Amino acid sequence: MSEAFENPFFVEVKDSLDSVGKGMCLAKWTQVTMQLQTGHNHSCHHPATHKISELEIARNPSALHNTKFKKLRRKEMLEGKRPEECDYCWGVEDNSDRFSDRIFKSSESWSWEYKEEMITYTNNLKSITMPTKVRLCNKCYKKQRTKGIDWVDWELTLDEERDLKLKELGI
Ligand code: SF4
Repeated sequence: MSEAFENPFFVEVKDSLDSVGKGMCLAKWTQVTMQLQTGHNHSCHHPATHKISELEIARNPSALHNTKFKKLRRKEMLEGKRPEECDYCWGVEDNSDRFSDRIFKSSESWSWEYKEEMITYTNNLKSITMPTKVRLCNKCYKKQRTKGIDWVDWELTLDEERDLKLKELGI
């Protein structure tokens, strides 16, 4: 059994995530890598990237991270499902006694502190702003690294209420 598996904090995080759903992972909200040269993003870095819709950004700039595609994956997590694109973590969880990155990334201070907001975000349709870990495309990332910067912290507003209102208006 790995040491991490005996760490009470990781056990607490896993139990808490699993009480929402076996596929719940906070990194789907708090971490994003943007491939600005192709207009793609993914969160976290394990799933394949997907295209950011220009229409979505025009309606709400937070779609740079909070794409419709990603919101649907979050919805799956909140409904107890395991998004297919996160198969890296399911492979670890189904084939070993180790914790997957779902637990480690959710345990980070930049994730764990915001757990309640993420869960109520979809349930209560309220707007919240949270810090998001952003890693830019390869070229920008090289520049980031030469300056000793790993992640860039941005505040992105998750505004589901506004999204829905605009949708009702057909915008
Ligand atoms: S479940 Fe795993 S692959 Fe999916 S977002 Fe979380 S850490 Fe990444």
